[in-house]
Amino acid sequence: MECVNCDREILDAALYCQWCGARQPTLSEEIAQAGREMAEAAAAVAQRVMEAAKPVARDIVRTAKPAVEKATRKGVQAAEKAARKTEPIVSEARRATKRAARRTARITTEAARKVKKAAKAK
Ligand SMILES: [Zn+2]
Repeated sequence: MECVNCDREILDAALYCQWCGARQPTLSEEIAQAGREMAEAAAAVAQRVMEAAKPVARDIVRTAKPAVEKATRKGVQAAEKAARKTEPIVSEARRATKRAARRTARITTEAARKVKKAAKAK
């Protein structure tokens, strides 16, 4: 292998360079260094991807905005239309419920009177 300092050929297992005396990295140090370099490279790639994606994202937002606004407007219109159409039905249902409640009250009162009368007759 080559010395990390002077680049001269040294024994593969050498801990120190026989020419310049520089300490050679151990296998675990080399693995750790490789890991750090890989992490740095991955971070750099991620950074570049994000930077490249920014204008694309802006473009998508700019392009999609009118469509989203149009869809929202249509949704609101549809909701208003539905509200207008159901309004009379809801009102009618409310009136019918009131009528039914009044009728029930009348029938109940009438029944109570009949029961009272029958009790008195005994
Ligand atoms: Zn050396």
